[in-house]
Amino acid sequence: MTNAQNAAPQRTRHEAHPPSHLFYQGRQRRPLIDRADGLYIWDVHGRCYLDGSSGAMVSNIGHSNPHVLQAMQAQMARATFAYRLHFENAPAEELAARVADRLPGDLDRVFFVSGGSEAVESAIKLARQWAVATDQDSRWKVITRQPSYHGSTLGALAITGYEPLNAPFRPMMREMPAIPAPTAYLDRDALSMEERGRRYADLLADEIERQGPDSVLAFIMEPVGGASTGALVAPDSYYTRVAEICRHYGVLLIYDEVMSGAGRTGAFVAAEHWGITPDIMVLSKGFAAGYAPLGAMAAPGRLVEPVLDAGGFLHGYTYAGNPLACAAGLAVLEEIDRKHLIDNAAIRGTSLLQRLAELKERFPFIGDVRGKGLLTAIELVADRETMAVLPPSLNAHARVVELAYERGLIVYSRRTRGGMEGDHIMVCPPMIVTEAQLDELVGMLAAALAAFAREAGL
Ligand code: PLP
Repeated sequence: MTNAQNAAPQRTRHEAHPPSHLFYQGRQRRPLIDRADGLYIWDVHGRCYLDGSSGAMVSNIGHSNPHVLQAMQAQMARATFAYRLHFENAPAEELAARVADRLPGDLDRVFFVSGGSEAVESAIKLARQWAVATDQDSRWKVITRQPSYHGSTLGALAITGYEPLNAPFRPMMREMPAIPAPTAYLDRDALSMEERGRRYADLLADEIERQGPDSVLAFIMEPVGGASTGALVAPDSYYTRVAEICRHYGVLLIYDEVMSGAGRTGAFVAAEHWGITPDIMVLSKGFAAGYAPLGAMAAPGRLVEPVLDAGGFLHGYTYAGNPLACAAGLAVLEEIDRKHLIDNAAIRGTSLLQRLAELKERFPFIGDVRGKGLLTAIELVADRETMAVLPPSLNAHARVVELAYERGLIVYSRRTRGGMEGDHIMVCPPMIVTEAQLDELVGMLAAALAAFAREAGL
């Protein structure tokens, strides 16, 4: 490494992508990354970090996987770009076939994009074009949940239920209706979890009625919540009831599996846990696991064919189906299978949840431990009984992330939950994580939580 590369603190600020102050107030600029391998990342100063959140729940198979690097190098030596109007390319065709094979039910048409927001945009546009092509022009509203996160582009933002992200851009696109996310764990009523699940699902039927069933095109949900709710898993009854309601009203069900897909929850897609086949599914993040920008939207022929018959899908991106990105995606899928990483995510996920539950015993300000597979989170509260939130002045989620970072552990956090502010920390290591590495991770997290408790006088 040259001295110039080493001089990270003196670098100029031309790269206009500092961390959002919305989430990390007062945080220092991060050091330059030097290299990464497996679960570990080194900065240019030689400090080592354990990647306890796979970046932003992306690096599912770990860093610098040799099989993926070789596959990408081989593709690079052939062709890195092929424009879709001029050439088909083998990695895209092969990946589409494999993904179609892996997805539930009739989700067998795959459209590639470069990330999660683009995949969500593609889903909305396909749904809308299908409605027009099938003489259902009146259907255009996409019901979402509050809170939720579906992306940064303006279309995806219009169906994102997270006030701080939405507010600065109003008025922008037509505001879309939202129903509360199924935060059944917060309810203090006499109902069972399954009853609560049905009650949250019925809010969708109420909303469709309120909006006018003929105006509603789709409902979008993260089957296991991402950063917006902190790995929220609804009661089982929620999933089946939501699917029934959508079917009843002819409303398309869109599963946003950008974070939960590609094996992280212990199934290739989280929909499998509940035996649901949504009408449209979107994937990204772990799909190419950080080796290339890649996402996908999958839909059945019954939605795609009418659109094609009506003149074609009026949508596309220059980098859609990029051969290099698709070669990376293929190699990631191969590694997931070869190393049985989906099974590992399920097994280690159970172990991780147990360890987090032990932390809950130790720290009274942990109010909830939740998740599925290796998509897990802890929620920090002032009072476990009432689930009252910690004072915003503590900035608890960001402080814990900082205290963990100082100790060489990377975790991911947000201050948001159903209807009010709440602090959660997401713990989502790569799916290659071992038991020993879980020990290391949870040990460092415990140290950060203990430091936070001392600092905050909890
Ligand atoms: N949908 C979900 C559930 C996400 O978690 C994210 C990103 O965090 C997105 C969509 C947007 O993905 P991207 O940031 O790749 O555009």
